[in-house]
Amino acid sequence: MRDFLDVAEIFGENVFNDSVMQERLTEEVYKELQRTIQEGKELQRSTADVVANAMKEWAIEKGATHYSHWFQPLTGATAEKHDAFISAPHTDGKVISEFSGKALIKGESDASSFPSGGLRATFEARGYTAWDCTSPAFVKKDATGKGAILYIPTAFCSYTGEALDQKTPLLRSMEAVDKQALRFVRLFGNTTSQKVTPSVGAEQEYFLVDRDKYLKRKDLVFTGRTLFGAMPPKGQELDDHYFGAIRERIALFMKDVNEELWKLGVAAKTQHNEAAPAQHELAPIYAQCNVAVDHNQLVMETLKQVAYRHNLQCVLHEKPFAGVNGSGKHNNWSLTTDDGINLLDPGKTPHQNIQFILLLTCVLRAVDKHAELLRESAADVGNDHRLGANEAPPAIISVYLGAQLEDVLTQLINTGSATSSIKREKLDTGVRTLPDFAKDATDRNRTAPLAFTGNKFEFRMVGSRDSVAASTIVLNTIVADALSEACDVLEKADNFDLAVHDLIKKYAYEHQRIVFNGNGYSQEWVEEAARRGLPNIGTMVEAIPHLVTDKTVKLFEKFGVFTKAELESRAEIKYETYAKAINIEARSMIDIASKHIIPAVIKYITSLATSINQVKEACDVVTVDVQTELLKESSDLLTDTRNALVTLIEKADTASAMKRGKEQAEFYLKEVVPVMNSLRAPVDRLEMIVNKEMWPMPSYGDLLFEV
Ligand code: ADP
Ligand code: MG
Repeated sequence: MRDFLDVAEIFGENVFNDSVMQERLTEEVYKELQRTIQEGKELQRSTADVVANAMKEWAIEKGATHYSHWFQPLTGATAEKHDAFISAPHTDGKVISEFSGKALIKGESDASSFPSGGLRATFEARGYTAWDCTSPAFVKKDATGKGAILYIPTAFCSYTGEALDQKTPLLRSMEAVDKQALRFVRLFGNTTSQKVTPSVGAEQEYFLVDRDKYLKRKDLVFTGRTLFGAMPPKGQELDDHYFGAIRERIALFMKDVNEELWKLGVAAKTQHNEAAPAQHELAPIYAQCNVAVDHNQLVMETLKQVAYRHNLQCVLHEKPFAGVNGSGKHNNWSLTTDDGINLLDPGKTPHQNIQFILLLTCVLRAVDKHAELLRESAADVGNDHRLGANEAPPAIISVYLGAQLEDVLTQLINTGSATSSIKREKLDTGVRTLPDFAKDATDRNRTAPLAFTGNKFEFRMVGSRDSVAASTIVLNTIVADALSEACDVLEKADNFDLAVHDLIKKYAYEHQRIVFNGNGYSQEWVEEAARRGLPNIGTMVEAIPHLVTDKTVKLFEKFGVFTKAELESRAEIKYETYAKAINIEARSMIDIASKHIIPAVIKYITSLATSINQVKEACDVVTVDVQTELLKESSDLLTDTRNALVTLIEKADTASAMKRGKEQAEFYLKEVVPVMNSLRAPVDRLEMIVNKEMWPMPSYGDLLFEV
C-alpha cells in the first residue's frame, strides 16, 4: 500500500461505471444496456436480471449489504430507503443474497410523506422509483469503511406517472433540447451527431464552522442560518480571505472530501477560499446534466459528512450570516454533441460562427421571453436574502456577453454585418470568421445572473442548498423552445443563408434589452432595467406565480416536460415550503429570545443595577453616569425586544392558523418577516452592550474567525 493518494487509482472505485460493466457483463448484455443508456431503448427483463446480478456481486465485494433506490423528492434533499440483498429464509433457516432485475428497475415507495402538492390523493399513496441508467450506480461506505450501501439513482413518480421529483422533468427536458438541437445542427449541415446533451458544472459555495460552537447556536441548528448576531469588528472588507492560503484544518477537511468524491466518481477539481471569512468553494469538472445534478447532491452530502468527522459543521444555507456574503451555486451550462462538439463554442470556421451566433441569439430570446421563469427556478427561501439584496447576483435577469460579443451583436443589428473590433475582419454573416472569444475577454463581470463565459453560460442565481435541477430544466426547455422556433422558420426557408441572417438580426434586435454588461449591483441598473421593462422579482413568494402562468404551462406542455397539474403542484409545494421555513425561523427566534436572550439581558441589567447601588452606597462622590446610561439603554432595548417578541408571537400564531397556500405564504412574507427583523435589531445592539461572558451564544466573531 502506498501512503499517498493516487487520484487515478481511486477515481471511480466505488462506481458501477462503464469499465466495470465491460468487465462484468457479457458483450451481448453490455451492448443491450448501452442501447438503453444511449438511446433510451427499453431493457429486457432477462437482461435486467443479469445486470442486477452483476451489480449485486460487485457491490457485495465492496462490502454492500443493502441496495437503495436513491431519489430527489421535492424537499430539496435526497431520499433513500435501504433493502438488504436477502431472499426469504429457506426451510433450513438460511438465506441467499438476492437482487432481481425487477428490483433494480423499479421500486415501490410510499409517497404519502413526500411533498406532492395535491397530486397524490391520500387514497393513492403509492409512488414508484424508476432506475435512471444514464447516471451510474455507486457504493457508499460508512465511516468504519466496512458497511456499505449500493445506491441506484432513480426518478420518483406517482403511481399515475406524475413527477414527484426533480429528476423526471430534468430527463424530459434533456430529451426536448436534444431533439430541437439536433434539428438545428442538421440545418447547418451536421450529419454525424446523434445526440445533443446539456452539460452542467455546478460550483458549490459553503461555510465551515467549528462544530462545538455551531451546537451552541440553536438558530443555526434549527434553521441553517443565524437569526441574531452583531457584526464582528472585521468582516470581509479586506478581501483577505478570498483565494487566501487555506489553513491546515480546512486543508485536511478538503483532502478527505476530495478523496470521498473521487471514489464516487465525482471529478472534484477546484477548491479555494471564498469572499466571506469561513467561506469556501468546490467545483467539479462538468458532466452530463443529470449526472451533474446527482453529483452535486453527493457533493453537498459529502461536505456535511466529512465536516462532521473533523468536528466541523458545513453550513450550506444561502445566507448564514448577515453582513457578509452568502453562498450560491453557479450553474455552468452548455450543449455538447455525442461526437464532442460544444455548440456554444464560437468555432473556427465562418460556418460554425454563424451557427454559434444564431444559437447565441436564440439563448437571448429564450431568456428574455422567459426571464420570470428563470428567476423562479432560483427562488428559494434562503435565496431571498441574496437576490436583490445588495449581493451577487441581482434579482433582475440579464445576460452578460462581454464587450466583444455585444459589439458584434450591435453591428449585426445596425448594419447586418459585423466587423470584429479586435481583428478588424469583416464578418458578413457567413463570410469571414469571428474573433476568437478568449475566455478572458468574455467574462470578468461577476454581477450578471447569466454570463457567457467563452464556451458556456454561467447562471449564478442558484442558491447554495438548492438542487441545480430546477434551473437546468428551465434552461434546457426555454432553449429547446427558441431552437424549435428558429428551426420552424429555417426549415421552410428558400434561401437558408438569408433566412439565418434575418433571424439573427431579428432576435438580436428584439431581445437586446436583456443584454447588460455594466454593474448589476448598481441602483442605476435597477432603474435602467425598469425602463427596459425587465422584470425585477425580489422574493420567492412573488416568483412562484410564474410557474403557473399560461405562458409557462404552454411552454412546458409543448415539450412534455411538465403538465399543468405538475406545475400547479410544484407551486403549492413551494408556497408551503416557504411558509414552513419562515415559521420555523420565527419559532426559533421566539424560543431563543424568550429562553436565552431576555434572561441574559435581565441578568446583565440586574448586575449593573446592583453595582450602581453598591458604588453609590460605598462612595457618593463617585459618579455612575456611564453605568446609568448603559442601564437605561439596555433597559430600553430590552423593552423593544420584548415588544417585538410579543408581536412576533401573535403574527406567527395567526400565520400558522391560516390555510396552506399562497395567501399564507404572502402573510409570512409581509407580516412575519418584518417583525422578525424588528426583533433582531434590538437584540443585535444588546449583544454589543452585554458582557461577552453573559451572552448566551457564540458571536459572529467566534464563528467566522475561529475555525
Ligand atoms: P470560472 O472560473 O469562470 O468560474 P471555470 O473554468 O473554473 O470557470 O469553470 C467553472 C465550472 O464550469 C467548472 O465546474 C467547469 O467544469 C465548468 N465548465 C467548463 N466548461 C464547461 C462547459 N462547456 N459546459 C458546462 N460546464 C463547463
Ligand atoms: Mg464561476
